[in-house]
Amino acid sequence: MTVTDNLISKPGCLYVVATPIGNLDDITARALSILKSVSLIAAEDTRHSAQLLRHFGITTPAAPCHEHNEREQGGRFLARLQAGEDVALISDAGTPLISDPGYHLVRQAREAGIKIVPVPGACALIAALSAAGLPSDRFVFEGFLPAKMAGRKARLEQVREEPRTLIFYEAPHRILECLQDMQAVFGDDRPALLARELTKTFETLQGMPLCELVQWVAADPNQQRGECVVLVAGWQAPEGEDAISADALRVLDLLLAEMPLKRAAALAAEITGVRKNLLYQAALERQKGV
Ligand code: SAM
Repeated sequence: MTVTDNLISKPGCLYVVATPIGNLDDITARALSILKSVSLIAAEDTRHSAQLLRHFGITTPAAPCHEHNEREQGGRFLARLQAGEDVALISDAGTPLISDPGYHLVRQAREAGIKIVPVPGACALIAALSAAGLPSDRFVFEGFLPAKMAGRKARLEQVREEPRTLIFYEAPHRILECLQDMQAVFGDDRPALLARELTKTFETLQGMPLCELVQWVAADPNQQRGECVVLVAGWQAPEGEDAISADALRVLDLLLAEMPLKRAAALAAEITGVRKNLLYQAALERQKGV
């Protein structure tokens, strides 16, 4: 085996490269140098990415890697990687795999023992969170909600009592109905923020309680255009009976129908993990009909 054979048999590297979400100046120097040096760019939409690549004078060939062909085309990219070529994965905007294609390719490459290198950069949810002034130590990214109201409300119900900051992506033509559903499920006063057109000319970040945000967006059609991220403050347990989740109260009610109050509160505490005293007080109030 010659030295050249040795070099060729060494697999290439898959770079997962973030691109700008609006402002082209947000591309990193490292992203540019990798996009120039790899053998192939796996792009969500080659025509869309051609504009970005042209802008930066990058002539590397690109091949499509979108959600409809990703699984099947994965083998093609893997073959190039296994033959020793470096490949860069990009999406239309921001970080690949974040509500964008790439998961299957990265997974297949990892399973094949290919080295995968993240090249971080713009990401709309992180940009929005960094400027929102909502708790950022812990957060939950929910991606896109279901498009239809019933599915959307059901999903929102599931995260109603989530204490961490919630982050959603939403399409502009659904932003108003989405915020209205959030108001219905999370309540009028839950703090929220709409981050629209980040890094672009009409960038807007508006934070206010959900009921005011709904009115503000409804009153201005311009706020129903462009790309948006919605952030909602996490649930905060109120004092007293309200602090007991709806599920725990249901358990308490079922037990109260079957046994004395003290026993029902103790058993409900064991089942739900809620403090016995809290459930006892709630049971007293329920019996008094408060
Ligand atoms: N991979 C991207 C990222 O890293 O953020 C997200 C891609 S996802 C298909 C597109 C969604 O991201 C948009 O519908 C919007 O919710 C959000 N988004 C992307 N760019 C944005 C921007 N400049 N301002 C606000 N939201 C943006």
